Amino acid sequence: MRILTKALLALSLFAACQAHAVTVFACEPEWASLIRTLLPQASVRTATSHLQDPHHIEARPSLIAQIRGADFAICTGAELEAGWLPMLQERAGNPKVQNGRPTMFFAAQHVDLIDPFKGAITPFSGDVHAQGNPHIHTDPRRFLQVAKALAARLGSVFPDQKTQVDQNLSKFEAELQAKIAAWEMQAQVLKGRTVITQHASFGYLWPWLGLKAVADLEPKPGMPPTAAHLDKVLALSQKQKPIGIIIAQHHDPKPARWLAGNMGMPSKLLIMPATVMDDQPGAMTRWLDQVVMQVTNLAQ
Ligand SMILES: [Zn+2]
Repeated sequence: MRILTKALLALSLFAACQAHAVTVFACEPEWASLIRTLLPQASVRTATSHLQDPHHIEARPSLIAQIRGADFAICTGAELEAGWLPMLQERAGNPKVQNGRPTMFFAAQHVDLIDPFKGAITPFSGDVHAQGNPHIHTDPRRFLQVAKALAARLGSVFPDQKTQVDQNLSKFEAELQAKIAAWEMQAQVLKGRTVITQHASFGYLWPWLGLKAVADLEPKPGMPPTAAHLDKVLALSQKQKPIGIIIAQHHDPKPARWLAGNMGMPSKLLIMPATVMDDQPGAMTRWLDQVVMQVTNLAQ
């Protein structure tokens, strides 16, 4: 009898936990990490990793299944996922993840975006960012703004989680503020220096660190570098004396290698993951620790 009572108790506890487990679909690992920080018991599915180009992924059936079962979805927005998210939303048939619903959260709606694309967008324009650069997570101050907006949203759609979410946000904010101060101190050596880059992947990182991107290996956003464009970048670079060439891990390294070699600075090519390397709590700190260290080392 006692065993039976214990078993029933365990079963009802299990059922209660099940009822509270929120399932979240995250388009990118930085947002998955943030969800796990604020709502540790959430069951999180992450659509992409740092090894992928978030503009271009395949809308696989497994992703459709994941978004179909989600109570909440978090993506960057600002058209970063324009090539695949609308298809997932449509095929999922899940009202909770449709645009305009409080359970469909777009991070880019909660910060100011830099560099909106001006001009006519044609099918040949490439991955232009009409609303502004969507790669906002590379600025930890904006990341914190998103964390605050996300905590408010989670508290309103899951009111029974609000107290815990708010406590987790306070802890996260204090920790990240301390790290931001330390990173900014470390990055003093970068003030006023220049860098050559590829795409707008780190577009928010440069101004935060005091760097200026003086040339882009892509002739147009999202378009692979061409020989003629690289020649132009080479001519420009020789005058600018940049700290180096920094590209994202998901870019083809060949054009950047060619340029670094021709500039006589093959050791000044830095290839970095464009986002966090895991989707667990603390991922942002682990990634930016690496980024700030590597970029400052380049300037030594
Ligand atoms: Zn982009």
